Amino acid sequence: MIRTAAPASDTIVAPATPPGDGGIGIVRLSGPQAEQLLGGVFRGRLAPAAMASHRLYHGRLCDAAGRPVDEVLAVIMRAPRSYTGEDVVEVHCHGGSQLLRCALDLFLAAGARLARPGEFTERAFLNGRLDLAQAEAVAALIGSRSARAARAALAQLDGRLSQQLYRYTAELRELLLLLEAHIDFPDDDLGPLDGEALVARTRAVRTAMTGLLHSFDTGRVLREGLNVLILGRPNVGKSSLLNALLGEARAIVTDIPGTTRDTIEEQLVLGGLPLRLVDTAGVRATDDPIELEGVRRAREKVAAADLVLLVIDGARPLNDEDRMALAMVQPARTILVRNKCDLPPAAPADELAGFPCQVAVSVRQGTGLDALQAAVVAHFSATGDREAGDGVVLTERRHREALAGALQALDRFLAAQAAAEPAECLAMELREALAALGQITGETTPDLILEQIFSRFCIGK
Ligand code: GDP
Repeated sequence: MIRTAAPASDTIVAPATPPGDGGIGIVRLSGPQAEQLLGGVFRGRLAPAAMASHRLYHGRLCDAAGRPVDEVLAVIMRAPRSYTGEDVVEVHCHGGSQLLRCALDLFLAAGARLARPGEFTERAFLNGRLDLAQAEAVAALIGSRSARAARAALAQLDGRLSQQLYRYTAELRELLLLLEAHIDFPDDDLGPLDGEALVARTRAVRTAMTGLLHSFDTGRVLREGLNVLILGRPNVGKSSLLNALLGEARAIVTDIPGTTRDTIEEQLVLGGLPLRLVDTAGVRATDDPIELEGVRRAREKVAAADLVLLVIDGARPLNDEDRMALAMVQPARTILVRNKCDLPPAAPADELAGFPCQVAVSVRQGTGLDALQAAVVAHFSATGDREAGDGVVLTERRHREALAGALQALDRFLAAQAAAEPAECLAMELREALAALGQITGETTPDLILEQIFSRFCIGK
């Protein structure tokens, strides 16, 4: 149990399915009166009080005058075996938004309160069903844009991040107890404090925590996507490539050089990784102020990109504009895409020898695109795919900041120990490290931050 709060006295209700028409629409209630509220509107073979927990029952929802509103299935999940840890009722209505609205109104009229966004999950947290990191994983799971991001969120929801944190916390608490024993009973027969052991054990926790901190790079990519830039002079086939990778016509493809003046951003999932593809304006030597602005932006984008797909026309010799693009990138972070390999190839150019990763494609014929996608995934795996063991990656910036804070406290602890400072000072740093770790799981998180976290959820979750 993470937090023990007084049980909520009111019962909340919200639609649990998204707005709009669908096959079914679910209204969810949580709180001490959930069963009683169901009893007021549900007419079936059994009264809610006689229903078994976790079983669906068929019946009708009726308004105050006894008129049937919808034919439904109802389920009661009695405390504590429910998502929130309270009595939870779900009513599965027919999916029309109007029907769902009616069902909601019935429960509101009977005394339920409309739930705030994230309030069900907040109650689960307050009742110790989830810790804060797990609650945040619920939101990440719902919002995940790729299979890998979902896997990372699921591992966090499973409590694997929390378990790692609890291991660090348990070890630091033990060290703190040792120190406190020496502070409280200095004259007892505890013997001198074994400083070396203290330092060795702190270093071990510190190493593990640093590994977890580094997994944030992977976590960021999973949440925000990898920044992939498509760069090249006009008419080499950048827009065509973008469209081929996206499988839809977004960028305008024309035969007139330089039509894609601004940048176009698209998101896609490749090999389970979320990618943001940015098609830049054609890079060329020009005096046209609009195009110059495009080149300036391209330079900025190159600097910010995780990976550049530099496209050249493999059927033509390099020109100055190609050279300008080649000079803008770092070969280690670039895949050189030689397009138009359906045409007779131009003589190989020396300038390209410095690029370790090159792929020949014909966007027109669709050849080489698989190899290109594999090269993108391989590039990412080689450079950034770090997990802190057990599939745990740090995805939330909030977690990273708290973990970094805990590491700083440990560093201060080690410095104080080396300077032979009194045990009180050492203990203080350990307590700070513990408090910082506790912010991740919610033990020491201020209420204001909790509110912010839960308000990011959708309604009904
Ligand atoms: P961008 O200016 O770099 O975005 O280039 P576009 O995508 O607009 O393509 C320029 C021209 O090259 C268009 O006429 C495309 O049809 C053509 N093109 C693109 N890819 C290929 C290819 O693989 N082979 C051939 N032969 N032509 C291509």
